[in-house]
Amino acid sequence: GFKDKKDRQFADIIEIALKHDKPVRIGVNWGSLDQDLLTRLMDENADLPNPKDAREVMHEAIVQSALLSAEQAEKLGMGADRIILSAKVSAVQDLIAVYRILAGRCRYALHLGLTEAGMGSKGIVASSAALGVLLQEGIGDTIRISLTPEPGGDRTLEVKVGQEILQTMGFRSFVPVVAACPGCGRTTSTVFQELARDVEDMIRDRMPEWKTRYPGVETLTFAVMGCIVNGPGESKHADIGISLPGTGESPAAPVFIDGKKAMTLRGPNIAADFKALVEDYIERRFGVGAKREAV
Ligand code: SF4
Repeated sequence: GFKDKKDRQFADIIEIALKHDKPVRIGVNWGSLDQDLLTRLMDENADLPNPKDAREVMHEAIVQSALLSAEQAEKLGMGADRIILSAKVSAVQDLIAVYRILAGRCRYALHLGLTEAGMGSKGIVASSAALGVLLQEGIGDTIRISLTPEPGGDRTLEVKVGQEILQTMGFRSFVPVVAACPGCGRTTSTVFQELARDVEDMIRDRMPEWKTRYPGVETLTFAVMGCIVNGPGESKHADIGISLPGTGESPAAPVFIDGKKAMTLRGPNIAADFKALVEDYIERRFGVGAKREAV
């Protein structure tokens, strides 16, 4: 809404939230920014001896708009700890600039998200770049990834990307991570790509059960590597890893568990054998027996 209507509608929403004992998220979107505020700031800027860049004024308008609304919500009785602010912009550098200012000027919880991030890898990369910088600086309390889905595509990808950003940055764990080498001239077969995919599929399929039976399983790391050069080293860093034979190597796949070589797999069932070892490892480390031992 605009002008008087805006204040009335804003007050209505705050009242409803208070009545139901709910927090509120107050969002400013640069596409629907308070034009009166923006015009006033632009005019004031134009009168300065050294006017700022129009973009900086726009950042200031977004920040002021969010803070003024939060102030208004507090006046209406909403506690400061029940207010979450979000400032949606669609360019990475704008988002970083706006949130740095907001974080410096208030103690409200901040919701991060790049709006209109785009489709496919473009949206994922842009969101990851923006949120990565801010989260690393300790800015941001909740996040949202906005991706334009492919026609008929899966909306849950947004949640998955959000979880992966938090997990790759080491802030939260959601599912075990599979480290897989990219492959290179040392390997001509697709065996390790297939095994990496198999392990990912296995995690996705088994995670609902693992999560309830094995608390902590989400912190595990697996490695699936393509040759002897980096394979053993990388596999040793994982909780459980396998180094598949590269081109010209003997058809043997050493498996490393907790940093030590545990066995060597051979033959046509390497994938199935490795997956069985993973299940076994998880049961031993997180199963009822492990808990009993810990007690
Ligand atoms: S582990 Fe081996 S196959 Fe994989 S990228 Fe490294 S050198 Fe290449």
